[in-house]
Amino acid sequence: MKELESYYYCVEMPKVRQGITEFKKEIGNQGKCKRLSYLYDRLMELDLELIERKRRYRDSMEQDRPYIERQLIASYIPEVEKEIQRFEKEINFIVNERNGRITQEMIEQAREYPIENLINVRRNMAVCPFHNDKQPSLSIKHNRFYCFGCHAKGDVIEFLMRRDGLSFKEAVNFLTEVT
Ligand SMILES: [Zn+2]
Repeated sequence: MKELESYYYCVEMPKVRQGITEFKKEIGNQGKCKRLSYLYDRLMELDLELIERKRRYRDSMEQDRPYIERQLIASYIPEVEKEIQRFEKEINFIVNERNGRITQEMIEQAREYPIENLINVRRNMAVCPFHNDKQPSLSIKHNRFYCFGCHAKGDVIEFLMRRDGLSFKEAVNFLTEVT
C-alpha cells in the first residue's frame, strides 16, 4: 500500500502536473496563433486598401478632379495608415512576447526579402508549393502570395514558415541572415 502511495506521488502525480502545464501552454499559444492569423489577414486587407486608395488619389490628380473631391479621397489615406500601424503594433507585441529576441527592424527587413528569391516566379505567377499544382496558380504581388487553387495567402515570412515548416522566429532569422 505504501509502495503504491509513493508510486503515485513520485511518478504519477508529476506526470499529471506536467500534463496540465503543457495543456495550458498549448491553449495559450493556440489563442495567440488564432489572433496572429486574424491580424495578418486584416493587415493584408489594409495593405491592399492603402494601395487602392493611393491609386485612386493619383488618378484623381491625373484627371484633375475638383479640389474638394481630391481632399476627400486623400483624407482616408492617413486613416488606413494609422490602422495598419495599430495592427503592426499588436502583431509585434504578440510576436516579441513569444520569441523574445526578434526586433521590429528584423521583421521589417525580413518582409522586404523578395519571394522571387525563394521560388521560381514568371510574370508574377509561380507553381504553388501548398497543393498539387499542375500550372502556376500562385500569384505574387507586392511581395505577398495568393493561390487561386488552394487560397493559401500571406507575406514572405508566412510563405517560408509554411513551405519549410519553420517557426516565425526561424523564418525571420533566416530571411534577415540571407539578406
Ligand atoms: Zn495552392
